[in-house]
Amino acid sequence: MMADEFRIDSHKLIFHPLRVSKWLSGEKIYPIYAELSPSGACNHRCTFCALDYMEYKPRFLDTALLKERLTEMGRLGLRSIMYGGEGEPFLHKDIGDIIVHTKRSGIDVGITTNGSC
Ligand code: SF4
Repeated sequence: MMADEFRIDSHKLIFHPLRVSKWLSGEKIYPIYAELSPSGACNHRCTFCALDYMEYKPRFLDTALLKERLTEMGRLGLRSIMYGGEGEPFLHKDIGDIIVHTKRSGIDVGITTNGSC
C-alpha cells in the first residue's frame, strides 16, 4: 500500500479491518501499535540522539506501574509494542519480565536495540 498524505505506511491496517471500519465511521478507537522507551539510558553516545540533548541522565520506567499499564493497554485493544525510543531497552534491569508480561497481556513485542549490551 502507498503512504498517504501524512506519510503513514498503512500496510498494517489491512490486518485490522474492524478497527479501521470503526475509525472511518468516526468512532473513537484504541491504537493497535505503540512505541515505548523503558530505558532513558544508553551505552552508546550517538550525537543525533535525544539522549545526547538530555545529557544521558539515566531514567527507567517503574516496572510495577508499567506492567499495570500493559495489562490495561492489552485489554483495551493494543496489539503490538516496539520497545526502543531514546534509550537502550536492554539496559532496563526488568526487561525480560516486562517482555513476558507484555506477551501475556496479548501484545506482540518488537525491540530496537543497538545490539551491544
Ligand atoms: S539510544 Fe540509540 S541512537 Fe541513542 S545513543 Fe543509544 S544507540 Fe545511539
